[in-house]
Amino acid sequence: MPALDPATREALEARLRFYRELGLTDFYRRAVDPSQMLAQAAESSGFGEQASSAGEAGVPSLSTDTCDGIKSNSKSQENDLISPRKTFQAPPPIAAAVAPTDRASALQLIREEIGDCTRCALHKGRNKIVFADGDANARLMFVGEGPGADEDAQGLPFVGRAGQLLNNMIAAMGLKREEVYIANVVKCRPPQNRTPEPEEANTCSPFLFRQIDVVRPEVIVALGATAATYLLGQRQPLASLRGRIHSFRGRKLIVTYHPAFLLRDPRQKKEAWADLQIAMSELGLKGRSS
Ligand code: URA
Repeated sequence: MPALDPATREALEARLRFYRELGLTDFYRRAVDPSQMLAQAAESSGFGEQASSAGEAGVPSLSTDTCDGIKSNSKSQENDLISPRKTFQAPPPIAAAVAPTDRASALQLIREEIGDCTRCALHKGRNKIVFADGDANARLMFVGEGPGADEDAQGLPFVGRAGQLLNNMIAAMGLKREEVYIANVVKCRPPQNRTPEPEEANTCSPFLFRQIDVVRPEVIVALGATAATYLLGQRQPLASLRGRIHSFRGRKLIVTYHPAFLLRDPRQKKEAWADLQIAMSELGLKGRSS
């Protein structure tokens, strides 16, 4: 047997002492095939064949070539890569329903847990966190994308021009704004009102999911593609999601256009109204009596 170098010997002795303290005293030697060991090392590095050609044994090169190599190397590795657009698995719904009388305080607890949030980059440009607005026991909930300038200034969702249109939509359904619950995928305003990045949306949306679990609305209306994507956990064209009832955390979910889009293209209001009528039918609402 070849002599061990002092450093390896010392490391081995320390490891044996550790095992002994755990009560493990019997060790067996097993014949090892060196070529198999090399293959295993390459496999566990995640770089396949690249590792053995990457210069120092077992040290993966981080050059662009190697990275491209990972992507094109094997189908299974490609499938394992997490695309930045992939939304994450939503946490399971909370088992027990919060009693209607406790819902406002349960929501307050979620707000307190969010605190003066710095969990994602959006905190840098915000003035106010926009948690939600409305009735903690609402039967209907609207989910938008994220606060704009007016919401950021006031700390309330949908209070600008898009909010005015949403108020009109709610009134047309025969409800008052105070009777519904309104929240967003992200609670801080994205710079220049850009779409939230997946990292931002995925960091913030678990709080939205908990709000949904507490309020337990009968129907959720996702306003626009961002809300639909992060509630349904998949990116699909809005057209393919509209006009039917989805299920999310045990709630019925309907997808429609974002009011800001309807302000830009009012011809689509008819389509949005058709979507809201699905929600109304589920809730047994007759619409505004005028
Ligand atoms: N747009 C949104 O998506 N949410 C708001 O709160 C305001 C505008």
